[in-house]
Amino acid sequence: MLTGYHIAVIGGDARQIELIRKLNEWGAAVYLAGFDQLNESFREAVDLDFDSKQVEQLDAIILPVPGTDGNGNIEGIFSNQLIQLKEEWLKKTPPHCQIFTGIANEHLHDLAESSNRKLIPLMDRDDVAIYNSIPTVEGTLMLVIQHTDFTIHGSRVTVLGLGRVGMSLARTFHHLGADVSVGVRTTSSAARVHEMGLVPFDMNRLDGRDMTCDILINTIPSQVVTPGIIKQLPSHALILDLASKPGGTDFRYADKRGIRALLAPGLPGIVAPKTAGRIIADVVSRLIQDHSRKENEA
Ligand code: NAP
Repeated sequence: MLTGYHIAVIGGDARQIELIRKLNEWGAAVYLAGFDQLNESFREAVDLDFDSKQVEQLDAIILPVPGTDGNGNIEGIFSNQLIQLKEEWLKKTPPHCQIFTGIANEHLHDLAESSNRKLIPLMDRDDVAIYNSIPTVEGTLMLVIQHTDFTIHGSRVTVLGLGRVGMSLARTFHHLGADVSVGVRTTSSAARVHEMGLVPFDMNRLDGRDMTCDILINTIPSQVVTPGIIKQLPSHALILDLASKPGGTDFRYADKRGIRALLAPGLPGIVAPKTAGRIIADVVSRLIQDHSRKENEA
């Protein structure tokens, strides 16, 4: 329960709708900015007045999953207003106020540091990233089905990376009957791929390796899907790049070769915003309560 906690939700997308709903349900006092086009939807929440005493009561600020841009601007699909997160404003919050974001760029890290407020990039946490990999995989399946004219079953699927997303992808495609190989860079990851009954290969030793496949899914946020790989793909192949922008694919080269290559960011928010919002709500709620328990014990 979050009774007695004051939480500001600033900007975001459909994921925030479920997040706000849960915060209200759990009894928090919720303040909203960047939701003016949804005014009627949250009768229990109030508008955040950046110049009022509300700010001095805040226990937490929840930013959208992408955080801010390089100037501190916060995007929200439910408002035309541009909201900028500023150091002077953050300093008006109580010192224990925590800032939650999905991911954080350098600007947001600097802003939190100069305001002396704790910043929590949720997507850096294993629990959030692993829960989030579930809707990510479902979104990937959706895109693969939409953009191919052959079954996943029996296809040759290459997954690059065996992190939180790569592991879930490799397992799911394997269970659907694909012939899955996984590109890794450590011997321990190679051992894990082998243990899963899949075929590992070393990303650092691609010279001479046959990279032919029907579906190539990249989760590595580095330029790894190079012309050397792309030119080995058959014309019907699909490249899906899930890595954070700008992805890890030479899209220009893929286009030149006539290979379909898609950068597919933010799948949880697209295919399952309710689940994705619930994942955020559960973790934020737990962290807010843990934080205040620790403060009380100190
Ligand atoms: P992660 O757990 O950190 O996994 C990243 C993987 O990439 C690890 O296996 C890592 O290898 C490998 N890697 C990193 N740099 C490499 C390099 N230079 N060469 C070879 N391998 C390298 O991250 P994640 O949670 O799985 O997320 C992966 C990416 O997907 C991130 O960019 C994330 O933002 C994005 N993402 C996208 C969506 C979407 O909807 N599109 C959803 C969730 C996440 P080691 O294990 O050896 O370090």
